[in-house]
Amino acid sequence: MRTNIADIVGKEGQEVEVFGWVHARRDHGKLIFIDLRDRSGVAQVVFGPKVAGASDLRLEYVVKVTGMVNKRPENMVNDKIPTGKHEIFASGLEIINTSETTPMPLDTDGYEINEEVRLKYRYLDLRRERLAHNLAFRHETISFVRNFLNEHGFLEIETPNLTRSTPEGARDYLVPSRIQNGDFYALPQSPQQYKQLLMVAGIEKYFQVARCFRDEDTRGDRQPEFTQLDMEMSFVEEEDVLALNEELLIALVKKVAPTKKIQEVPFPRLTYKEAMEKYHSDKPDLRTDKNDPNLLAFCWVIDFPFFEKTDEGGWTFTHNPFSAPKPEFMDDLLAKKNIENILTTQYDVAMNGMEIGGGSIRNHKPAALEAVFEIMGFEKERIHRNFGHMLEALGFGAPPHGGIAWGLDRLISLLRNEPNIREVIAFPKTGDGRDPMMGSPASVDQKQLDELGLEIKKKPEKK
Ligand code: ASP
Repeated sequence: MRTNIADIVGKEGQEVEVFGWVHARRDHGKLIFIDLRDRSGVAQVVFGPKVAGASDLRLEYVVKVTGMVNKRPENMVNDKIPTGKHEIFASGLEIINTSETTPMPLDTDGYEINEEVRLKYRYLDLRRERLAHNLAFRHETISFVRNFLNEHGFLEIETPNLTRSTPEGARDYLVPSRIQNGDFYALPQSPQQYKQLLMVAGIEKYFQVARCFRDEDTRGDRQPEFTQLDMEMSFVEEEDVLALNEELLIALVKKVAPTKKIQEVPFPRLTYKEAMEKYHSDKPDLRTDKNDPNLLAFCWVIDFPFFEKTDEGGWTFTHNPFSAPKPEFMDDLLAKKNIENILTTQYDVAMNGMEIGGGSIRNHKPAALEAVFEIMGFEKERIHRNFGHMLEALGFGAPPHGGIAWGLDRLISLLRNEPNIREVIAFPKTGDGRDPMMGSPASVDQKQLDELGLEIKKKPEKK
C-alpha cells in the first residue's frame, strides 16, 4: 500500500512503499542517495549495491521504492525538511517512467527563470515546491470561503460564460455565434447582471468563485481572465455587506495565514475624499511598518463620486453603473441634477495599498437605473436595447440588494507574499496575453471561419 512521503516520519522501523519523482541524486559509489518527492514532501532514500537500477536514476524519473524507514544518524539529520530525521533504506526499486532533462531547474524558487520558459513548461514549473504550495494555499482559501458562506446561508450558483456585452468599463472578449451567424456572445467581465437577476429570482444570498474576462491592454498585474469571489445579498444595507466581508476576511487570515497580523480591527473606514486628501490614493497603504511582510492593513474606502467627466465632456460612472446612489442623493439622481456631487454606495476594500475587492448597493427600481444611463447620455432606444432585460426585471418586485466581489488572485498573492498574481494561478498567460504552453491564441481552420461567417481581413505579420 502506498505511503505518502511526509508520513514516513511516523513509520520508523516499518517497511513502506513510496511513489514519486527523483528530486535530487547523489552517487557515492557504493551508496546512491536520492531525494524522492511526492506532493506531500521530500525524503532521502538510500540504495545499497544490492538494489538493481539505482545507478540509472536521473532527475524527475518516476519511481516506486520499497524499503525500511530508519532514523538517520544524529550528524546526518537534515533540519531543512520535515522528514529530515529519517530516511528510507531501499530494498526494491521500480522505474515507472523516465524523464527528459528538464529545460529549467525545479528545485529552486524559480523567480530567476525566464517566464516564457516557465509558462511553456508550466506543468514542470508547478512541480516546484513554492508553486505547489501556492496552489494548495489557493485551494485552502477557497475551501474556507465556501464553508463560511455555506454556513451563512449562501447558495453557490454558476452563471454563464457565454453572455452579452456588459458595461464594466473594459473591452469584452467576443465569441462568434455559429447558429446566429454574425452575432456574438461576450465573455462576462463579471457576473454583475446575473447575480442581480438571481436576487430578483429570490435567491437572497448568492456566491460564486467566478471567472471574469476583460480584454485590457497589459497593465502590470493583470490577466485576461481572473477569478473573483462574487457575492450578492438581498434586503441588506451597506453596513451588512461590509460587516460580513470583514468577518470573513479576518477569519480567513486567521485560518490560512496565521503568521500574518491584521493591523487594525475593525478595518478603518475612509471616505474617498479623505483617502485622496490624506494619502493621494483611493486604495491607501495604511501600514505603520512597510518593511514588515506579515502586516496586513485593511481598510474600507467609501463614498465615491458616482460620475466623472468623460474626455468628450459627458458623464460616465466611476465604478459600476448598477450601483445605487447614497440614499440622500436619490432625488438628485432621479432629477439628473447636481451630478458632480452625487455619491455612490460603492465600497472598496484595500489592503497594503492594493484594491482587493469592491461592491455596492444596487438600484432596485427601474427609474433609478434608467436615470444612470440617461446621465451618461444614452438614448432611450440604446438603454432599452442594452439593458431592457435589467429594467424589466427590476420592474417585477426586485428586492433591495447589494454585493461585492473580491479579486481572489490578488488577495491570495498578497497573503503568499508573491510579487504578482501569475504565481498563484495554475495556468496564467504572459503579459501580452499568450499561453506559450498551449500556443494560444492561435489561428483556426478556414472551415471554422466559414461556419462562423467570418473573414480575416489581413493577418498582421507576427512580431
Ligand atoms: N461586479 C463588480 C466588479 O466586477 C463587483 C460588484 O460590484 O459586486 O467590480
